[in-house]
Amino acid sequence: MKYISILGSTGSIGTQTLDVVREHAGNLKVCAITGNNNIELLKEQIIEFEPELCSVMSEEKALTLKKMLPKDCKTDISFGMDGLMQAAEFEKSEIAVTAISGMIGLKPTVAAIKKHKKIALANKETLVTGGSYIMDLAKKYNSQIIPVDSEHSAIFQCLMANEYRSVNKILLTASGGPFRGKDTEYLKNVTVEDALKHPNWSMGKKITIDSATLMNKGLEVIEAKFLFDIEPEQIEVLVHPQSIIHSGVEFIDHSTIAQLGLPDMRVPIQFALFYPERIHNSYKSLSLTDIGNLTFEKPDMEVFKCLRLAFDALKAGGTMPAVLNASNEVCVDLFLNKKISFLDIGNINEQVMLKHSSVKIDSIETILEAEEWTRQTIGSLMNIEH
Ligand code: NAD
Ligand code: MG
Repeated sequence: MKYISILGSTGSIGTQTLDVVREHAGNLKVCAITGNNNIELLKEQIIEFEPELCSVMSEEKALTLKKMLPKDCKTDISFGMDGLMQAAEFEKSEIAVTAISGMIGLKPTVAAIKKHKKIALANKETLVTGGSYIMDLAKKYNSQIIPVDSEHSAIFQCLMANEYRSVNKILLTASGGPFRGKDTEYLKNVTVEDALKHPNWSMGKKITIDSATLMNKGLEVIEAKFLFDIEPEQIEVLVHPQSIIHSGVEFIDHSTIAQLGLPDMRVPIQFALFYPERIHNSYKSLSLTDIGNLTFEKPDMEVFKCLRLAFDALKAGGTMPAVLNASNEVCVDLFLNKKISFLDIGNINEQVMLKHSSVKIDSIETILEAEEWTRQTIGSLMNIEH
């Protein structure tokens, strides 16, 4: 039996992780779950999966949740950052699934690493902001990071023969999002509703907007750089609208290996939970003849400037990727609340990066300070403009 904790069990990755647990009930047991504020769903999850601990962000919600549970329920209810940390460090748990969205996932992921847990990493923000600091920490604490992001899971699987030294380049595929092929003129007027319509994947709002701006691919370029210890020039982003090839690796002998599958996040989640084992499941088989055609295009980094900014941030190094990530988190929030336009996201990210002088990351505090600096900088930019 493998014991796992799920940070962010109420989200898209969190609920699909619980689906994987349902599928493999005899092999997986959830001992801790956390959510932000969806206590209705947490209640259902507690009753079905009987975790030992459940944490929510506010004390008030924690009290309400306690009242909603049956009298004989044995689950401890916790709250706030402390509760999140308890779930990350939960002693019985062997694997922490980091399914929280945003930089809030950084501290609990670091806490789980320091307790030598395996990390099933969905929260890409941890690697985007912490980069080699996080990878070094994982090495130091003998904590294995297994990617859940479908592209990185694909690359990880292509490298299972341990041929890291023979990598020529990585082929990072992107669906292109809902605005593939559109120009800046078109993007001027797109709405939140338009941007939330992802063609292939059903995901949380933040990552869905990032898929529309191609920032998600940018964050994945940064994630890949640190996970696989490669240079940014070795990463080729390919727009592949069918989302069947999840990514690939070209080796120095010009042989290329890619991983294929239907777009179903339960597959990379299961892979991360059972690695290095592969086990049977009841999911749908890929039929290439049904799909018929697989097509590829170059991404337009002028129109979708967020992707270019990610490469720029990697070149600048240090805190720059953390600043880009933080700026983008603020901008996506502003866009979702209809305070800025779709194109403002890239424009503000660019302005913030231009104002930042990158410093080396030697602690989590450096990352959190960069985040704080970014929030203040955007605050003053917005004040000037409004
Ligand atoms: P989501 O918005 O659906 O879920 C986020 C989860 O985090 C929820 O459980 C929510 O309660 C919790 N959460 C959010 N803000 C919080 C806060 N301030 N404090 C505590 N908990 C908080 O997001 P998602 O789509 O499941 O994505 C989760 C992570 O996985 C992201 O980092 C995303 O980039 C990554 N990811 C997602 C997918 C996908 O298919 N959804 C694919 C690859 C990677
Ligand atoms: Mg992905």
